Amino acid sequence: MRIAIISDIHGNLPALESVLKSIREEGCDSVYCLGDIVGYGARPEECVACLRDRGIPCLLGNHDAAACGVGDASDFNPFAREAVMWTAQHLSPSAKAFLMGLPYSLSVHRAKLVHSSPLNPDQWTYIFSAEAAAAQFPHFTEDVCFFGHTHYPVVFTEPGTGRRLINVGSVGQPRDRDPRACWGCFETDSRQFRWVRVSYPIEDAAAQILQAGLPVLLADRLFVGQ
Ligand code: ZN
Repeated sequence: MRIAIISDIHGNLPALESVLKSIREEGCDSVYCLGDIVGYGARPEECVACLRDRGIPCLLGNHDAAACGVGDASDFNPFAREAVMWTAQHLSPSAKAFLMGLPYSLSVHRAKLVHSSPLNPDQWTYIFSAEAAAAQFPHFTEDVCFFGHTHYPVVFTEPGTGRRLINVGSVGQPRDRDPRACWGCFETDSRQFRWVRVSYPIEDAAAQILQAGLPVLLADRLFVGQ
């Protein structure tokens, strides 16, 4: 079975639509979302509806939590905080209710799914380094754990066992200097994983951000992927 794993959409509807088209073209049997559906981008309501209406299982991300009132934005940078406050004002009660109901982790096809980290999925820890990854391996039992949150596609492998922590990258705000949308394609039988990069109309997403009156920086960074 071939499954698609997406994360960190961040209200970027042009990127999400392009990724879902790419997922169909790759012949994936199902899709899972690791959270941060909203925040930063100007189409949060549409992104929630897009995933909810397709019945795609989703996790709660830190931006989702802040936007629906489950969490707060006290540790957000000023741009992220401004965007999440805007998002909270522009999400319908039904979209907020959907976000409120999302879990912090799932286990599917012998794979662990989290937004931030398996140890404390509700604490929004960032896994950037091999050292940080090493501390996480004892906290899941599956042979692979998929995560998001850093927007940086990377694989950390546990020495000796070959177990993996894989960041699937970000659909709506890549930060690895490749502005194309990113998603993960996983073969559940062979356990093979690959990233797929997708060009999308960045200028549309940027124009939506500017029209909404959100910080200009949030539009500009999409063009450089950082
Ligand atoms: Zn994110």
